[in-house]
Amino acid sequence: MDGSVPNGRNQPRISFEFFPPRTPRASMALWESVQRLAPLGPDFVSVTYGAGGTTRDRTMAAILAIRDCARLNVAGHLTCVGATKDEVLKVARSYAKLGCHRIVALRGDPPTGHDRFEVHPGGFEGSVELVEALAEMGQFRIWIAAYPDGHPEASNMKADIEHLKRKLDAGATGAITQLFFQNESYLRFRDACADAGITQPIVPGILPIEDFDKTVRFAQSCGTPVPDWMFKAYDNAWDEDSHDMLSTAIATEQCDELMAEGVEDLHFYTLNKSELVFQVCRALGVEPVPAHTAASCG
Ligand code: FAD
Repeated sequence: MDGSVPNGRNQPRISFEFFPPRTPRASMALWESVQRLAPLGPDFVSVTYGAGGTTRDRTMAAILAIRDCARLNVAGHLTCVGATKDEVLKVARSYAKLGCHRIVALRGDPPTGHDRFEVHPGGFEGSVELVEALAEMGQFRIWIAAYPDGHPEASNMKADIEHLKRKLDAGATGAITQLFFQNESYLRFRDACADAGITQPIVPGILPIEDFDKTVRFAQSCGTPVPDWMFKAYDNAWDEDSHDMLSTAIATEQCDELMAEGVEDLHFYTLNKSELVFQVCRALGVEPVPAHTAASCG
């Protein structure tokens, strides 16, 4: 493994994404994951926001718990779906009140049963307008989404990158990518972004695979190709241990290659599970720091 990044550090800067839990049992799983991953000293962790604002209160509760108990910088995700501009910005103000000054600003997916995003009456037209409004508030570091394999609605990569540039020019700090499994996609995309004059970081979103079949279904829904060799490899992973070893090896190799290509930041999709992400980070040289150990929050 190369394991070095060109910023003088020998480990990547990492961040983790969690989703707000629905049940007490799921809350325990989230909390255990946060406790396990906090000592790795993430730059920040983010909490997703459900379609149509359906998880608003749960997102807030998760942000509050992570902030108070794990003492981590938290980014709240925010979408434009199913809400007026005032309602969306009220959520942003609540984030700021909680001390959450990072936002992952998204247009969001259409609600179930709808094919395309529709602007809510009195709502934001899309992500560019949302980023502009959040930037105007002057209280947030704003992250946005990027799609190395193309967004399913993109007409072509050029149009996709022009749209990405509009989001960044509206005031975003950088972009976090959709999951991808072929580093060539990311590297081609990053080059095309640089050619288009984009200077902000495009942080790779990495998914260590917990469940291959589910991952394939999710990847198909977002237009992310899954290479043939992965199907063969998971066919041969006969039990849970070999499955987990394979997933750890694949994600570690993917990250290591990206770091060798100059990537300094990695954003991990945790699915509220910690073990694979922990093992990948450790394999990449990230050392647990006791000072970051989460307090006991029950
Ligand atoms: P946009 O980038 O605004 O649009 C998506 C694509 O549509 C663009 O890439 C572009 O190809 C095309 N497009 C849109 N408008 C234009 C235009 N005016 N001109 C040209 N092309 C255009 N969803 C949630 O509901 N909650 C979350 O918490 C959440 N978190 C996410 C985090 C990350 C890192 C990522 C990658 C995705 C996340 N999503 C989340 C999913 C996201 O909401 C969907 O992918 C959604 O379909 C697009 O949102 P966006 O902000 O990327 O949209």
